[in-house]
Amino acid sequence: MSHPATLHRAPDRPYAWLAWLVASQLAVAVLWLAAGWRWGLPALLLSHAAFIVPVFLPRATLYAPAVSRLPGDERAVWLTIDDGPSDDTPAMLEALDRHGMRATFFLVGERARARPELVQEIVRRGHEVANHTWSHPQARFWALGPRAMADELERAQAALTELAGRPPRWFRAVAGHTNPFIAAPLCRLGLSRAAWSARGFDAVDGDVVRVLQRIQRGLAPGAIILLHEGAPHGKSVEILEAALCLLREQGYASVIPD
Ligand SMILES: [Zn+2]
Repeated sequence: MSHPATLHRAPDRPYAWLAWLVASQLAVAVLWLAAGWRWGLPALLLSHAAFIVPVFLPRATLYAPAVSRLPGDERAVWLTIDDGPSDDTPAMLEALDRHGMRATFFLVGERARARPELVQEIVRRGHEVANHTWSHPQARFWALGPRAMADELERAQAALTELAGRPPRWFRAVAGHTNPFIAAPLCRLGLSRAAWSARGFDAVDGDVVRVLQRIQRGLAPGAIILLHEGAPHGKSVEILEAALCLLREQGYASVIPD
């Protein structure tokens, strides 16, 4: 891949959002004074929305930079598999081996701690281990305060570093959500945030054909493909198999950014 070294970037100004917040509220106050509430009030609401909406947009970079695709026009993609380790991990590894593809596994710290042999097997087979929080708090990740957010990232980082033998370099946010407190621990841990450009909603949808159609829409040189393991519908391995066949058919290789 071209210039992978420039791709990895931990946030260097974790509180840049604060400067934007102060500046926007000053601008609203000035507008309100100059033009009255009919302009001031909508501006106030819009300015708040501008800080709330990005929390739920997986590719928004207000609170932390994110890599959403790889540079260059080679026919290569970054395969990323979230939420493991799980009962699916061994079969996923077999499938990747069979197709000669490498992937980055975004692991949940407490699940990794419970199944260290799977983490070691991922590493042994030449794949990469990355940080996907300690406990994967699906519903409340976006609302975590500074302490809880730091705790989620740091505990996972410590466990995965020990189990994989080296510190993860990439982090993926739960459900892609971010908030004002995510950048500080990313910065401290030297973690870069990975988003995605192609996904099939395979964490919730077990219909292989439908999932693959959605992935196909985002498939392009440099795409970051988001897949899951251990989904309740039990089709994660089948979906990975189908995705690997799709990539092969269309002449895509998999790369892991260095
Ligand atoms: Zn997840």
